[in-house]
Amino acid sequence: MIDVEDLTFSYTRETSPILKNFSLKLVEDKSVSIMGANGSGKTTLSRCLNGLLLPESGTVRVDGLDTRQKDENLKIRALVGMVFQNPDNQIVSTTVEREVAFGLENLEVPYEEMHRRVEAILRQFGLEKYRHKSPHYLSGGEKQLLALASIFVMSPKYIILDEPTSLLDPASREKILDAVFELREKSGIIPILITQFPEETLRTDRLILLHKGKIVFDEKPADVFEHEKELREIGIGVPLYFSLKPQLEKLHLWGVV
Ligand code: ADP
Repeated sequence: MIDVEDLTFSYTRETSPILKNFSLKLVEDKSVSIMGANGSGKTTLSRCLNGLLLPESGTVRVDGLDTRQKDENLKIRALVGMVFQNPDNQIVSTTVEREVAFGLENLEVPYEEMHRRVEAILRQFGLEKYRHKSPHYLSGGEKQLLALASIFVMSPKYIILDEPTSLLDPASREKILDAVFELREKSGIIPILITQFPEETLRTDRLILLHKGKIVFDEKPADVFEHEKELREIGIGVPLYFSLKPQLEKLHLWGVV
């Protein structure tokens, strides 16, 4: 479980907190998506969840490990993987194969095991054919798949995806999400998906909606989207089906569909 209790965080002493007395529990059996308008605090929260940012007050505990305890830092980073919006900012190696191995080298995984895990992941993500290629030759979607593979190879328990599809075309977006939710099914990884696309949240069990650093909705995505008017007021759209639902229901009533 990731347990956020009474978290307050500001970037500087002079500015008001982005998150104030913020509490949240993320449990193992639920995948989660987080939405909110620009500046609502999604990225700040996600960075607090894996200890990249530390609380000014309150606590963030990942499976009982307090992010403020320096000696727990490596363990927390191993538990909570992060995939960012732009894979170019994440990819550091000269070949696809080395990129997948990079994190394992840092964790000092023995050579034989590293080799085995890299092979398995390249196969699982359909990246074998590119193994000796520079990541720069890959398309945007393939690069994001590589970024995901490079995190997943380290066997994190949670994976935070910070708008992982926002730079991609619709087909690549689907591919990335399919890969994420396949990992959820097969490996039990817990996705925490930050997204600006309402449709994407429907794949998760729980949608947390942030507005000015506060949780305004925390329910099943389909239940959140029933509140179209309130959502529009805070700059959030709903999937097309939910917009059309009242009209569709009328047509159904009249026997048209
Ligand atoms: P979101 O991800 O929802 O767009 P962010 O967490 O990025 O929101 O930003 C929340 C607020 O924090 C915004 O007002 C933003 O300007 C401010 N902010 C974000 N990063 C920094 C930073 N490094 N230094 C100062 N202020 C920041």
